Amino acid sequence: MSCKFCNEKGKNTVDLLGISICEDCFEHIATTSVFADNYEYNKEVIKSILKKYIEEKDMAP
Ligand SMILES: [Zn+2]
Repeated sequence: MSCKFCNEKGKNTVDLLGISICEDCFEHIATTSVFADNYEYNKEVIKSILKKYIEEKDMAP
């Protein structure tokens, strides 16, 4: 399973709302304040997670 965000394979991945994300990316998202310099990056990541989550939810019976 490869990470949805950095596309690295062979890392330990965790399941975040049905999306495979490696521990590095997960920790990055989880520990970075939204007020930090990479707020824009986190915003995009979270947005894509939510988008995927909503899409999959819509497709569910
Ligand atoms: Zn990753």
